[in-house]
Amino acid sequence: MAEQKIQSVLDPWVNTSFTCRCGKRHEVTVKKIVLERDALEAVPGYLQEAGYRHVTLVADSRTYEAAGAQLRGLLETAQLEVSLSVVKDNALGEVAADEEAIVQVLLDTPLSSQALLAVGAGTVHDIVRFVSHRTGRTFLSVPTAPSVDGFASVGAPIIVRGFKQTIPASAPEAIFADLGVLAAAPQAMAAAGFGDMLGKHTSLADWALGRLLLGEHYCELCARLTREAVELCTANLQEIAQRSELGMRKLMEGLILSGLSMLIVGHSRPASGAEHHLSHYWEMVLLQQRRGALLHGAKVGVAAVLMAHEYRTLLDLSSEEVQQRAASAPSRQEDAERIRRAYGAMAEQVIAENAPAMVPLDAQAFRAHLVEAWGEVKAIAHSVPSPAQLTAWLEAVQGPTTPAELGVEPELVQLSLDDALFVRNRFTVLRLKRWLH
Ligand SMILES: [Zn+2]
Ligand SMILES: [Zn+2]
Repeated sequence: MAEQKIQSVLDPWVNTSFTCRCGKRHEVTVKKIVLERDALEAVPGYLQEAGYRHVTLVADSRTYEAAGAQLRGLLETAQLEVSLSVVKDNALGEVAADEEAIVQVLLDTPLSSQALLAVGAGTVHDIVRFVSHRTGRTFLSVPTAPSVDGFASVGAPIIVRGFKQTIPASAPEAIFADLGVLAAAPQAMAAAGFGDMLGKHTSLADWALGRLLLGEHYCELCARLTREAVELCTANLQEIAQRSELGMRKLMEGLILSGLSMLIVGHSRPASGAEHHLSHYWEMVLLQQRRGALLHGAKVGVAAVLMAHEYRTLLDLSSEEVQQRAASAPSRQEDAERIRRAYGAMAEQVIAENAPAMVPLDAQAFRAHLVEAWGEVKAIAHSVPSPAQLTAWLEAVQGPTTPAELGVEPELVQLSLDDALFVRNRFTVLRLKRWLH
């Protein structure tokens, strides 16, 4: 009974298409989500029913141990042919979604293999999402840690020649999240998943800013689902901190629901704002400096605290001050110069990405609208939990709360506060801040 009730949070959004009040047609191609204890045992039956006889199981050495070996045994017992790809660590002792990993998985996948099973966390999923999409094979997801909300998403962030780019690929056909496996995942990964979820508070506020100030398309339904997803997590804080099965269920429901909301609306706007741009900026700099990678959600959680500070700052500004400050907003040329200084070899690519958003079409009209709508901007800023609240939530799950705890130095934090807004062509609190300086 309880099982059915809990499953229903995700069920309405699986394998569905409908016309939404936002004016768009929404479609979710994920056919099945199994989120329960012993979910691994449901995989062979699903494959047999769907007519798959030969599959390739992709893991890294840690996730193979955590769930891959067990799943392989279950599949072989069910007379399915299983090929194996255990992705090798890079020179830093990590698994990265880069060209080497992609080529390894391609080489390990026989032509007769019909589906790829991603058994791992975010990185293994990114590799498999890309390879299965480009080779026309079915992609099945077996998360081993509740660490990101990207399991259900379509974009594959891939590192090629040291640069990270997100390539459109496909969502999994089915997700099998085993609560026993998730509860045994490292504490830092659960804390990271929780941090990725807290970032929704600032990403949703950024999307609301885009709607208010630029008339950007906004879907109330997807915003509500994303909000529900993060509230599922904060409402079950203690269970998540203890990594109980109930806590892992709630966290995973939140992560998957956030992913489904992105699938429904067709982009990552509800779930990714300035806090993600900060995180991506730090990641690119660490990559260039050949420093070890940090967990995505750990960075996002810390960045969300910083962005909540930015929203607090807006509350102190009167509309008269806004009028004065916005009068000297940067020109397109000044933005381009700034990007050239900050992004070096990537600059032209970043300028092209930003061209549509660098200056809102009619700068003068935008300024007038900003002053007029300032009360609504403040209401959006009010909707963001305080930095102290976000910090307390992160502390409760023993996640990092400051850049220093992550090992991100103050200089890099300052650079990112100035320049991370250009990582994506999106209106965020950081872009607004640039306009008000
Ligand atoms: Zn994220
Ligand atoms: Zn909609």
